[in-house]
Amino acid sequence: MTNIFDKCKRTHYSDQVNPEMAGETIKVTGWVHEIRDLGGIVFVLIRDKNGLIQLTAPSKKISEELMADVRAARKETIITVTATVQESNKAPNGVELIPSNIDVINVSQLPLPLDTTEKVDAEMDTRLDSRFMDLRKHDVNAIFKIKSQILHTTRNYFYDKDFTEITTPKLVASATEGGTELFPITYFEKEAFLGQSPQLYKQMMMATGLDNVFEIGQIFRAEEHDTLRHLNEAISIDAEMSFNSHEDVMNLLEDLIKNVLKDVEDKCTVQLEDLGHELDIPTGAFPKVTYEEVIDIVNSHDAEMEYGEDLNRAAEKVLGETMGSYYFITDWPTKIKPFYVMPKEDDPEKSTAFDLMYRDLELSSGSQRIHDYDLLYKQLEAKDLNPASFEKYLQAFKYGMPPHSGWGMGADRLTMVITGAKNIRETVLFPRDRRRLTP
Ligand code: ATP
Ligand code: MG
Repeated sequence: MTNIFDKCKRTHYSDQVNPEMAGETIKVTGWVHEIRDLGGIVFVLIRDKNGLIQLTAPSKKISEELMADVRAARKETIITVTATVQESNKAPNGVELIPSNIDVINVSQLPLPLDTTEKVDAEMDTRLDSRFMDLRKHDVNAIFKIKSQILHTTRNYFYDKDFTEITTPKLVASATEGGTELFPITYFEKEAFLGQSPQLYKQMMMATGLDNVFEIGQIFRAEEHDTLRHLNEAISIDAEMSFNSHEDVMNLLEDLIKNVLKDVEDKCTVQLEDLGHELDIPTGAFPKVTYEEVIDIVNSHDAEMEYGEDLNRAAEKVLGETMGSYYFITDWPTKIKPFYVMPKEDDPEKSTAFDLMYRDLELSSGSQRIHDYDLLYKQLEAKDLNPASFEKYLQAFKYGMPPHSGWGMGADRLTMVITGAKNIRETVLFPRDRRRLTP
């Protein structure tokens, strides 16, 4: 018996077959995407990683036995076809395949949980319930190929800039920033939590002499939101730099995004086409707007906001329309930003904190951090946090902590922007939200 892997070993992917190969015998393997039986002729579209290829079986030209095999091809069954390439101006890539042999590799059950040829999208919940099948659609898996490119470019970018990639624990004993938005877990006989951010760890790394570090990892937020931009488990791209100001790390963030956009534009053309999405590539520097200017903009439009408030949804919308594309919000009031944010030297009511926005969507938050032990201690108390529960973190600030800055950016949100997805769930393979913990 032939080994199954020998049997299904392809000579070509669908996109590697072209009209110049007319007359050649090739082998393709894939899923049966669509079958059209017109009586005297049967068309089968075979789908693989890279696209579709058409099998054409005219009953006049091929044996009755093979014709029966073609007719037996069920949707989503995996088949391997040995066939002769023939030019065709009606089929994908300008070629069709005239089969000489068909091997069924694995049969698909019917009915299917999702239609992979469907033009109109099924409900999000139905799609997520059968995510593996959902990803058989090229416009769905295009998002994940682009996300993969985003992460790849991001890693390369940091390595090129001599950053050290770190991984920090996601099982933690206490909150990063206080607040109640943590998932408690049972850790043997103690209570522990899932980490909401690598913030404290990446800051402790500044005290090691590594200077520049980055991490790409999971963050967990026990917020009960039900929005198109929040999940309870997300991926955060975190960067922290010693001896660099908040302005330096803003430049880093902007430069990273521009590099990511360039790579996606160069390397993901097929995926962008599958999505029917045009990249928004900014020219020139990202504009900056101060928090105070934001208030004026918001209040002069159809929304309201007072000094000392975080942006509400209506404010974000107004701002998105006014500012467009990528922009920074700077000079946030110290009192609404986390305890570790460095206040401005000349005006401590204001801080070095910034947010990077894309239209009405927050992509990243960052700042210069406090490196002075006494000030950090004071700020913890000012935020009603108990310095004792931050003892191990605070220790790193006692023995020569460099001045430092950094940011965290949501990888899923960046993927939304770059792929044009309106719902963050589109950009996460197996999203976790208030109602969903499976698959
Ligand atoms: P938002 O105000 O939009 O809820 P945040 O200010 O609470 O976000 P940060 O703590 O500043 O978020 O986290 C840094 C970045 O991580 C955010 O700018 C965002 O891109 C991403 N992020 C934070 N929370 C979530 C979440 N629940 N789901 C997806 N991404 C998130
Ligand atoms: Mg934020």
